[in-house]
Amino acid sequence: MAEKTLQLEVVTPEQTVVSEAVDIVMAPGYFGEFGALPNHIPFLAQLQPGEVKYRIGGQLEYLAVSGGYAEVLPTQVTILATTAERATDIDLERARAARERAEQRLKERQDEMDFLRAEAARQRAIARIQAAERAKL
Ligand code: ATP
Repeated sequence: MAEKTLQLEVVTPEQTVVSEAVDIVMAPGYFGEFGALPNHIPFLAQLQPGEVKYRIGGQLEYLAVSGGYAEVLPTQVTILATTAERATDIDLERARAARERAEQRLKERQDEMDFLRAEAARQRAIARIQAAERAKL
């Protein structure tokens, strides 16, 4: 029988951040955002820093993830993320300060490794800022 919901699991090395039955999940794939509905064909996707969105009934929820992997199955989506925060748990001032530090480091970078680390930190911060600002709307 066709399923009407998907079980969404968002897991980090520290904790399970989401474990809920949802209607749809959207995630920041490495090659662009993708959506998964119940009964989707199985696939595995690498994620980049960004927002994971999911809907339960009329309610849209937002998370920030710093990258990882998504496994999409017909009845379940599992997101393994390095870090993940529900939008409502994000400290917006901390994320803004992290973005500023990262931008400063990008200006002062000494080598390629500095650049990559600072750019990754900047992208994590931007994802958190976007998710937190959306949650306030
Ligand atoms: P910062 O420099 O502010 O620590 P960061 O990008 O280096 O930011 P991470 O190493 O990605 O931080 O995350 C460390 C831990 O802190 C993780 O558990 C992550 O979920 C949490 N975290 C990071 N930034 C925030 C934030 N703005 N609000 C809430 N939790 C956060």
